[in-house]
Order: sequence, then C-alpha cells, then structure tokens
Amino acid sequence: MNIKEFIREIPDFPKEGILFKDITPILHDPKIYNYVIDKMVEYYSEFEIDYVAAIEARGFLFGPQIAMRLDKGFIPIRKPGKLPAEVISAEYELEYGTNTIEVHKDAIKSGDKVLLIDDLLATGGTTRAAISLIEQLDGEVIGIGFLLELEALKGREELEGYKVYSLISD
Ligand code: AMP
Repeated sequence: MNIKEFIREIPDFPKEGILFKDITPILHDPKIYNYVIDKMVEYYSEFEIDYVAAIEARGFLFGPQIAMRLDKGFIPIRKPGKLPAEVISAEYELEYGTNTIEVHKDAIKSGDKVLLIDDLLATGGTTRAAISLIEQLDGEVIGIGFLLELEALKGREELEGYKVYSLISD
C-alpha cells in the first residue's frame, strides 16, 4: 500500500509558506489506517517497552492504537491546563513565540521505558520538549516513532542520540 497517496498536501495552511501534510485521508480509510498501525507495531514488537506516550493532538490518532496493539499503557502528553492531576511542564520555541506541553507527574516512574509517538517530524522542537518531560520523571526514551518525517527540516539531527524511526519520509 502506498501511504503517501493518503497524505494530502495543503499549501499555505495554517499560514502562508507552510505546506501542510494532512493525514486525515489515512483515518478515513480503515484499510490504510490499520496498515499504518500494523507497520508501526511490527517495527516496535521486539522493543522492550513499558509505556507508549504521544503528543496532543495528532499523536493521539496513532499512539493509543499502537499502545493497545503492543499491550502497553498509554500516556497522554497534553497542551497546558488539560490534565487534571499534578503535572510537569516543558516549554519550547515556535517560529513565533513559545508553546508548552504537560504530562501527569505520576504517569512515569524512574526507569520506565517509554516509546514516544507523533504523527510528523518537522524541526523536532515538539519532540524535544516531550523527551524532556519523560526524562524529568527519570523515564527512558527507548524510541521515537513518526508516521512521516520531513527530511529537509533536519529534525533527526535535533534528536541525535535517540532511536528515531519514521514509516515514510519526504
Ligand atoms: P516540529 O516541532 O517542528 O517537529 O513540529 C512537529 C509538530 O507540528 C507535529 O506534531 C506536527 O503535527 C506539526 N507539523 C509541523 N509541520 C507540519 C506540516 N508541514 N504539516 C503538518 N503538520 C506539521
């Protein structure tokens, strides 16, 4: 199956100059959605994993499915003010301004092996912030998986030292 056929490119969204990779056609078709999850699960099936974590919002379209198929718990990493119990936060730079993500403090304990999932690797800034949350709680990031990697933005370099996997790259 050609996954790329199910990723739609929308120019100038959400602002001028950005070529947005829309993954909703994947979600629309159960065969390709299952195929994508199967492929990710196949890759990670031999990894030693305690939890799968993913980043709101599009990471939630793939992370929980991968977690369930691997029979592991799922940890949501969310935008500020969404998680009800005690949280820790990480701030990261955007092109304009900053953003924050949070995780429940009791979601990870020291030594837990965490697989981090997101839909797309661009500059790697979001992923770095998620890594810092996991590591602040003394969790170990044993892998980082993406559906799609935008190679030109060199996010992989930003994630040097971590085991990065992407199903497809562009
Ligand atoms: P970055 O922090 O630059 O690696 O950006 C990663 C996050 O932004 C991912 O969660 C993506 O969902 C989103 N993102 C960045 N660039 C794009 C793009 N061109 N198309 C779709 N989503 C994007």
